[in-house]
Amino acid sequence: MADRIRIENVSKWFGDFQALKNVSLSVKEGEVVMVIGPSGSGKSTLLRCVNRLETVDEGRIWIDQDEVTDPRVDIRKIREESGMVFQSFNLFPHLTALQNITLAPIHVLREKKASAEKRAYELLERVGLKDKAHSYPAQLSGGQQQRVAIARALAMKPKVMLFDEPTSALDPEMVGEVLLVIRDLAEDGMTMMIVTHEMGFAREVGDRVIFMDEGRIIEENVPDLLFDHPQQKRTQDF
Ligand code: ADP
Ligand code: MG
Repeated sequence: MADRIRIENVSKWFGDFQALKNVSLSVKEGEVVMVIGPSGSGKSTLLRCVNRLETVDEGRIWIDQDEVTDPRVDIRKIREESGMVFQSFNLFPHLTALQNITLAPIHVLREKKASAEKRAYELLERVGLKDKAHSYPAQLSGGQQQRVAIARALAMKPKVMLFDEPTSALDPEMVGEVLLVIRDLAEDGMTMMIVTHEMGFAREVGDRVIFMDEGRIIEENVPDLLFDHPQQKRTQDF
């Protein structure tokens, strides 16, 4: 299978502080890579470099044939190719669920309103929220808002999905419903990088797990081996 994401020798500094140290990683089409590691180890920074929310100082990143780290490649193209879901859902509060999902397809992809809405309803159904199309974010639970955020990212027909701790801001009883949606995407063959503290989920849904510490990937393996037979001494349990 072809690489969907290719990260080669990436380093990133914030002032004097080196947040990423020569990180290399490839994610194949349809593969789900879980990213784990202690707080401050560079997990979010790595994801943010993949969709150019951060620029890299050294190294190169590609999504398919498009080089993310080449400034000549249009940022809009990079953002269309990579759907990002954050810990905080960041829905537009004054727009309904449906309007949140159709906004970018209509204004960025220039889709017709009717076809964007048709697709939005399909996506809402997919995340189990068809009856909430006309609800505003404040009328939805955290888990429901995050599912709308996932539908919104999918509406751009991304080649890869990037999740940064998608359940960390949720009440415990809502974690499961969001993980279920992500699991469904995995079964559907979506290529994903997922930063998570949900170890059971990482183990079950991940094809591969990478463990980061202090800006480096210090271990990379299939989930069962990484969790049962860690090769590296870890600086902390988390
Ligand atoms: P993680 O997601 O693994 O918790 P991050 O990638 O958010 O870690 O951060 C890695 C390190 O880089 C941390 O020490 C953090 O303080 C630092 N860092 C992240 N973003 C910035 C920034 N914009 N400016 C300065 N330091 C940053
Ligand atoms: Mg983070």
